[in-house]
Amino acid sequence: MNEAARHQVIIIGSGFAGLCMGIRLRQAGIEDFVILEQADDIGGTWRDNTYPGAGCDVPSHLYSFSFAPNPDWSRMFASQPEIWAYMQQCADRFGLRPFIRLNQRVTRAEFDETEDQWRVQVNGEAWLQARFLVSGVGALSRPAQPDIPGLSSYTGKLFHSARWDHNYDLTAKKVGVIGTGASTIQLLPNIAPLAAYTTVFQRTPPWILPKPDRMISPMERSLYRRYPFLLWLSRQVIYWVLEWRVMGFVLHPGVMKLVEKKALAHLTRQTTDPALRAKLTPQYTLGCKRVLISNDYYQALGRKDVALETTPIDRVTPSGVRTRDGVDHEFDAIILATGFQAAEAVIPFDLIGLGGVSLNQAWEDGAEAMLGVTVSGFPNFFMVVGPNSGLGHSSMIFMIESQVNYILDAMNKARELGVRQIHLRSRAQRLFNESLQHRLQRSVWKSGCQSWYQTKSGKITTLWPGFTVEYRRRTRKVNEADYEWL
Ligand code: NAP
Repeated sequence: MNEAARHQVIIIGSGFAGLCMGIRLRQAGIEDFVILEQADDIGGTWRDNTYPGAGCDVPSHLYSFSFAPNPDWSRMFASQPEIWAYMQQCADRFGLRPFIRLNQRVTRAEFDETEDQWRVQVNGEAWLQARFLVSGVGALSRPAQPDIPGLSSYTGKLFHSARWDHNYDLTAKKVGVIGTGASTIQLLPNIAPLAAYTTVFQRTPPWILPKPDRMISPMERSLYRRYPFLLWLSRQVIYWVLEWRVMGFVLHPGVMKLVEKKALAHLTRQTTDPALRAKLTPQYTLGCKRVLISNDYYQALGRKDVALETTPIDRVTPSGVRTRDGVDHEFDAIILATGFQAAEAVIPFDLIGLGGVSLNQAWEDGAEAMLGVTVSGFPNFFMVVGPNSGLGHSSMIFMIESQVNYILDAMNKARELGVRQIHLRSRAQRLFNESLQHRLQRSVWKSGCQSWYQTKSGKITTLWPGFTVEYRRRTRKVNEADYEWL
């Protein structure tokens, strides 16, 4: 192994997580770090998801860094180009560019027990070394390919919604869309008017609520610029409105019956065909899968040139999709809007901790960590957006900032104590996760549906089971007793 370049911190990924970690390190006076980004630009999921209509379903005044409020959002719910531009601005404004290394895919990381350092292999060749390793790879970075027989035999155009091929013109094409999640409800209204016809293959109907979206007028924006207090106030109002929804998700799932009424009224208002309405009526408790918001998805499905196919898919043929009733649906293009590998594989490369154990081995029965950040057996390793720190009800950027705060506190404590290793005690991890899984048992996510929140065995490894206020409080300071400081 060649002599590796040494740093204090290596950050993997330049999405919101990696950028936040980098910014906060700089603010703490730590300049000896690198951000490794596998792609040729920064932005993570907001760089990759460029499908027509891509945007955020959390209001922008909350879906942004608390330390970099943006008075210039053009809509309540910003679109992908605007969010991505915001991330680029943050990278510039906080002087991160010199720390970012593009086209650097981490292929392996191993903890060197003699030196108490992480050795990180990049692009299968070069090695870097650092005291601390921070993963910001996120949960929605690896598209999920559906296990539909015959997929590779298809001879038309095939792509995933998170890898949109903008060189392929859908105008007047026969298009099939597989999946009816957050991505499809955004892209369908934008592609249906172009295509000759579009068939959407639905396995499970999503619950959909109206989207309270609107333009933010130039007058409002100038007020936000002039009076930052108003921007702060807008953020607070959105935060607390979203925060109370935890009551329905975790504490009293019965509340969801009331919200279901609102969603069904929305469906009734937007669809006139009773057969279509029946197909679109979910048969599981609202909230069990991610609740979606849209004002134009149902309308798009009502178009004459759009069909909603609910007969299960049998296989993909060279020319299209065959459903189980034996009908062949021919397409020029098939779009896989089948989501991401969120619950099963959180770290997409070999990460080797103490005793040569890989993280994937340690997580054979489902990923778990302390507050989604640290894992026993993997000293000096931190995750942003790790296991059970996702949300069904509010902004992930709030969680990211909490986690970065916790990581900085751990690093500071290590420096103060003059130790080389921070290692989570296995007992602390076990107790934390027993309590977490216990709390999840009565949540709406356990009410009987299948979702990407769970592993195949049904363990919820993605979601935080409470208020984000609680999470913020628990990540304010590292509990020293949970760790060995060596
Ligand atoms: P998703 O919510 O996981 O939806 C995937 C869809 O594909 C589901 O309808 C699923 O059906 C279907 N599917 C999967 N495998 C299939 C198969 N073999 N045959 C037929 N259908 C299949 O994925 P997504 O829409 O890309 O969204 C993923 C997550 O990304 C979201 O929940 C959200 O967190 C994030 N996202 C956010 C936004 C935003 O506005 N902030 C926008 C897009 C995405 P089943 O339901 O039956 O499994």
